[in-house]
Amino acid sequence: MRRFKTFWILFLSQVFLLLINLILQYVIINQSFTGFYFEEKEKTLLEEAYIIENQVSSLIVLGNFNDLQNWIINFGKKINSRLTVVLPSGQVIADSQSPLNHLDNHKDRPEIKKAFEGKVGMSIRFSDTLNQETIYLAIPIENNKNQIGVLRLSESTENLRSSLKGTFLKFFLGSSLVILALVLIIGFYSKSLTLSLEKISSITENFSNKGFSEKMKVGPWDSYEISSLVKSLNKMSDLITDQINKIIKQKKEQEAVFSSMLEGVLTIDIDRKIYKINHSAKKIFHLEMEKEYRGIPLKEVIRTKKVEDFYDEIIVTKGFLEREIILENDQIFQVHGSVIQGEAENILGALLVFNDISGLRKLESHRRDFVANVSHELKTPLTTISGYLENIIDGTVDSPEDQLKFLKIVQKQSLRLEKIIEDLLILSQVEMDTNGLLSGEVLEISPILSSAKSLFNEKTENIIVDCEKNLKARVNSHLLEIAIGNLLGNALRYGNKNSPIKLAAKTINGEIEISVKDEGIGISAEHHHRLFERFYSVDKSRSREFGGSGLGLSIVKHIALAHNGHVSVESAPGKGSKFSIFIPKV
Ligand code: ADP
Repeated sequence: MRRFKTFWILFLSQVFLLLINLILQYVIINQSFTGFYFEEKEKTLLEEAYIIENQVSSLIVLGNFNDLQNWIINFGKKINSRLTVVLPSGQVIADSQSPLNHLDNHKDRPEIKKAFEGKVGMSIRFSDTLNQETIYLAIPIENNKNQIGVLRLSESTENLRSSLKGTFLKFFLGSSLVILALVLIIGFYSKSLTLSLEKISSITENFSNKGFSEKMKVGPWDSYEISSLVKSLNKMSDLITDQINKIIKQKKEQEAVFSSMLEGVLTIDIDRKIYKINHSAKKIFHLEMEKEYRGIPLKEVIRTKKVEDFYDEIIVTKGFLEREIILENDQIFQVHGSVIQGEAENILGALLVFNDISGLRKLESHRRDFVANVSHELKTPLTTISGYLENIIDGTVDSPEDQLKFLKIVQKQSLRLEKIIEDLLILSQVEMDTNGLLSGEVLEISPILSSAKSLFNEKTENIIVDCEKNLKARVNSHLLEIAIGNLLGNALRYGNKNSPIKLAAKTINGEIEISVKDEGIGISAEHHHRLFERFYSVDKSRSREFGGSGLGLSIVKHIALAHNGHVSVESAPGKGSKFSIFIPKV
């Protein structure tokens, strides 16, 4: 359907109404004016007729028609009207403007007919005699109540018509000027209104295409309503922009939280298709990080049946469930699942949150092992001590030599107990004091090596110290000394008696390597990865023999970690061992 512009609809309809109004005004005024003019003329003619009525009557009665004719001509000139006198037979006996022999019988003239009925006759019609439109007025002439004739006054309507024409011409000119002015005003306002509408439509179009950044301006000729509309639209656009910005911000925040969550989060719709999956979940299920998984069926993305079964259970129970799921690679997850409900409480899908608790479970098992190990390690010397003491107290050991021998064993086991407890304390101190280390001082490494060496008093002649000059690091000197002491202690215990032990410190790949190298029994490769575990010994009886706690290397590793460093071992049976601590250089 063809649509017209608002301007044309407004403009043409208003102009049309204006023209209709003008035509109606013309018709009404024309009729009223013409009626009024003719009525007034009729009255004047009637007054004039009554004035001369008696004179005409007496001249008719006297039968002096020539005098009547002359008198009528004179009087007719004075009043500027045509006067006609007609006898009851219809014969014209006097006329002020036409020779009598030109006039036919006037009995049938409508106004004369009426006058002969005793009334005032009136008629407007074309006069053949005068050859123009004429207004006629006729009155009966009586003598002693007998009708003796009719007096008719007539006048051309030309003057009336032309004066009416003049009036209407002025009216028409005046109206035309008013209409022209109105058309211009209507045109101007229709244009300004449609311009505003066009502006609103273009801005709303802009709103839908580009957003709410552009503002509308109120023009000087805009109406009050348009200006309020523009203001409201601008206000509304501000509000919407504000709301949209808030929503975008919230969405971004949610996205940031969603994607940076350590927990794997997965939402699945009611058709069992993936709706959302975060980075952690992608990592858990070894999926492509950049791929969009929305809309892909769950079973094509996560091939573990356990997850599918859990989803089904959530949908059926419509509740909040918790489950431990072990994946094929032995990773253990605590999974929380809940249904996602729509506004009408209809189920839209389910939300699954995967929490990796493998570490926690490992830690729990380590803790259990540790407690068992500690108990075992403490129990062995304690059993030995109580056994030997029982023998002495029972008196089963008589000789003082044997008693001394037993007491020495008790002392040795006590020292071992002390060593285990001391090492356990150091270990817990290192684990707890990690933060304290951050405030450690930047110190020279060389004096720390020397004081670690000095811990071993008389046995130090085989220990050769080789330290790079001006080697500095941020360290806790006391802890580092303990770590180096443990390595030196092991080298002395498991090394050859007279072979040298090299304690060295140097820069390597931007780190400081502090190493202890011996030429002792060495360790075969299969033990290397477990050497730094608590209570791990390659040869338990040998370690006990030397009074080791089984915690020495574990302490070394934790001290290195506390310095943001790490440890390493190079060793082979019969070829000696090299244990190294690496810490960052300053
Ligand atoms: P322990 O108190 O038993 O010495 P450590 O943690 O210090 O405990 O050492 C763990 C094990 O590593 C020791 O039992 C020993 O078997 C082996 N070990 C450590 N240092 C050396 C070394 N320098 N040479 C050979 N074996 C070593």
